[in-house]
Amino acid sequence: MAKWVYMFTEGNATMRNLLGGKGANLAEMTNLGLPVPQGFTITTEACTQYYEDGRSINDEIMAQIMEAITKMEGVTGKKFGDKENPLLVSVRSGARASMPGMMDTILNLGLNEEVVNTLAEKSGNERWAWDCYRRFIQMYSDVVMEVGKKYFEELIDEMKTKRGVKQDVELTAADLHELADQFKAEYKSKIGSDFPTDPKEQLVGAIKAVFRSWDNPRANVYRRDNDIPYSWGTAVNVQMMAFGNMGDDCGTGVAFTRDPATGANGLFGEFLTNAQGEDVVAGVRTPMHISEMEQKFPEAFVQFKQVCETLEKHYRDMQDMEFTVEHGKLYMLQTRNGKRTAQAALKIACDLVDEGMRTEEEAVAMIDPRNLDTLLHPQFDAAALKAATPMGKGLGASPGAACGKIVFSAEDAVEWAARGEKVVLVRLETSPEDITGMKAAQGILTVRGGMTSHAAVVARGMGSCCVSGCGDIAMDEENKKFTLAGKEFHEGDAISIDGTTGNIYDGLIPTVDAKIAGEFGRIMGWADKYRTMKVRTNADTPADAKKARELGAEGIGLCRTEHMFFEGNRIDAFREMICSETVEEREAALAKILPEQQGDFEKLYEALEGNPVTIRFLDPPLHEFVPTEEEDIKKLADAQGKTVEQIKTIIASLHEFNPMMGHRGCRLAVTYPEIAKMQTSAVIRAAINVKKNHPDWNIKPEIMIPLVGDIKELKYVKKFVVETADAEIKAAGSDLEYEVGTMIEIPRAALTADDIAKEADFFCFGTNDLTQMTYGFSRDDAGKFLNAYYDAKIFENDPFAKLDQVGVGKLMKMAIQLGKPVNPKLHVGICGEHGGDPSSVEFCNEIGLDYVSCSPFRVPIARLAAAQAAI
Ligand code: ADP
Ligand code: MG
Ligand code: MG
Repeated sequence: MAKWVYMFTEGNATMRNLLGGKGANLAEMTNLGLPVPQGFTITTEACTQYYEDGRSINDEIMAQIMEAITKMEGVTGKKFGDKENPLLVSVRSGARASMPGMMDTILNLGLNEEVVNTLAEKSGNERWAWDCYRRFIQMYSDVVMEVGKKYFEELIDEMKTKRGVKQDVELTAADLHELADQFKAEYKSKIGSDFPTDPKEQLVGAIKAVFRSWDNPRANVYRRDNDIPYSWGTAVNVQMMAFGNMGDDCGTGVAFTRDPATGANGLFGEFLTNAQGEDVVAGVRTPMHISEMEQKFPEAFVQFKQVCETLEKHYRDMQDMEFTVEHGKLYMLQTRNGKRTAQAALKIACDLVDEGMRTEEEAVAMIDPRNLDTLLHPQFDAAALKAATPMGKGLGASPGAACGKIVFSAEDAVEWAARGEKVVLVRLETSPEDITGMKAAQGILTVRGGMTSHAAVVARGMGSCCVSGCGDIAMDEENKKFTLAGKEFHEGDAISIDGTTGNIYDGLIPTVDAKIAGEFGRIMGWADKYRTMKVRTNADTPADAKKARELGAEGIGLCRTEHMFFEGNRIDAFREMICSETVEEREAALAKILPEQQGDFEKLYEALEGNPVTIRFLDPPLHEFVPTEEEDIKKLADAQGKTVEQIKTIIASLHEFNPMMGHRGCRLAVTYPEIAKMQTSAVIRAAINVKKNHPDWNIKPEIMIPLVGDIKELKYVKKFVVETADAEIKAAGSDLEYEVGTMIEIPRAALTADDIAKEADFFCFGTNDLTQMTYGFSRDDAGKFLNAYYDAKIFENDPFAKLDQVGVGKLMKMAIQLGKPVNPKLHVGICGEHGGDPSSVEFCNEIGLDYVSCSPFRVPIARLAAAQAAI
């Protein structure tokens, strides 16, 4: 019989896949002898089984849960629903990978009116007993029955107003009792039945709710953003409660062994007296700094410091811990490798190497490549920042710089961003529902909440800038306005926030690009040492190429020549070329373009200093270039000595029903060889010129023919490319060498790669087109139905962002396996968007690609991902 349930004493940290991160670490802490309230973990496999059984818990699993409850009652000496010593538990989700705030937790389960009275009597603490009960009804109603938090929050607010108090802690036992009654009435009015009183019934309801929460919309979004497969499922932890809400000698906190924003070594965290865990995270009250705990709870603090040291040494990484103090006694509720900003991740990894805790390889493996993105994003211009005076200050919760227009709701953030506006989301506090809005915003500013509030944690995870807990803001969310520093701000007003210092500025402060230096440089140095695959960039302009070189690119894997035609007034000559009716006309127009293009290529070769440059010949359908404005059409007609009507006829003739599968790529070279000949001359002349000035550079042009599907196409085009190139080289008396290769972006090219490799010096997988042609849907239109595909679980990711390894990947593998034996010198790369996606980079390494090529800002990500793939 399968084992579906493990007591904390039966598990350990290596069982993460089965027990989830939280469960595995609760077990590990138990094994280390730390003070953990005992309980059990229902496995992730049970979650998967729950879905397989049509969202129900089967008899075998149920029996094991009941057995575990009995064991737990034995260990704790408490019993569910008992008149003497009732057991209260928390029911906590915990997936393999941590998904902070994404899943639901229920505290104080096991309460009913009778049990509350018992608790109140035995403890002499009536307030606490009713506080637990009202919290439980609130969480259970929200999480299990989906009644909605807000009704309960409204009732609390009403009660506070009635009593003339500001904070929950000021409510009395009688107030809380009354609230519990109101909550139950609310529950009954919404659900139509009484609030459940049987602890076991409550428990089963809660367990199902956790399983169910694996499939809630925000969990699905979080998984997609973080590459977590749906199939993993979540475990459920049932744990005896420790109470931080029994009075002023109690409290609850969250702490990190190092600063998650900067990485600085030292205890960092927050603590609230007379509170339960959720209060710290939800930002109900602004908590105190962990150091204040030392004065309030000297003994528990000393013990906690020791626990921190033990855990950090044990896990050899920065720990993020949740704990509670009950009447001065410490209980550990969670530990995990803490989420951190990219900056902190780099510092911690370097420090751990210097402290002898980790090797260089391990340090490289510790950094999430996707995180680096934030470091490559703009920071405030130092001079402008210095000149600006902050109008307020919150906590620097997630670093980076953000400026934009103020919006007050997640929905508005999404809507405004979709219109191309840069927005800063300003909220009282955020909750998991806000996640899409937080993603759409440049930055997040909250009035309440600390460094471990929802907004802070999620923003750090996403690499967004966040300033939290700016209590000076007088917020009026309803009327979309707030007051700060005596000024009223409305929706659409400009604001800037600094997620590093927590400063808030009126108006927009200009931003500048970031640099690779310090710890970033050190980690990238190690990454370069351990990776075997090269990293190139997709760059069309010398400026992009230069940026990419600074970020470590070792060449250009894709230069899209068509972008050059839009510079200045070159488009005029290009349009003349398109609207030519004879070869002579076309050649005359091309002759105007040739020197311009040659100049561009020279600048690229200069910028690359002898590193390889792959130049792709004209690819898009020609109609993309034709004029649409009447005056442009007239201008073209005049230049060509044609009538407006003639030009319009030519333009009309270029119309295609399905241009992405139309007259483009090498088909253009087949119909108009003179275009490819001109581009060949430009490339070769540029290379020869630059080589003259830099004889030590190894300049070897790589000419790439796009969209080849048949060996004969490549052969046909290659013939006049080679003729032209050889003639140029001969005329210049040069010994320049060059290569002619092709993109593999049509499935037929992959299928016949053994033929194609006979003519190609290199392959470059154009996985944007290859994905669209393999799936048979357009990358420009997929957005319309992808969401439905996510909802239906047909896709978990956008195949244009994350390589489809099963299908498209199989074509790639096949092409390499067919091509390399035919042409052992064949070099192979990728230049689709996937070249900068870490999991796709890992796949590319696995199938033996020589290089990946990605956009300049993704180069460091690819370097790190390539190193991780090699380690
Ligand atoms: P999340 O994964 O969202 O952090 P948790 O399962 O960790 O959710 O629970 C949320 C909070 O509830 C935690 O901060 C923790 O302190 C508190 N909590 C959970 N279980 C217990 C317990 N057995 N006793 C006391 N507090 C608890
Ligand atoms: Mg937690
Ligand atoms: Mg393509």
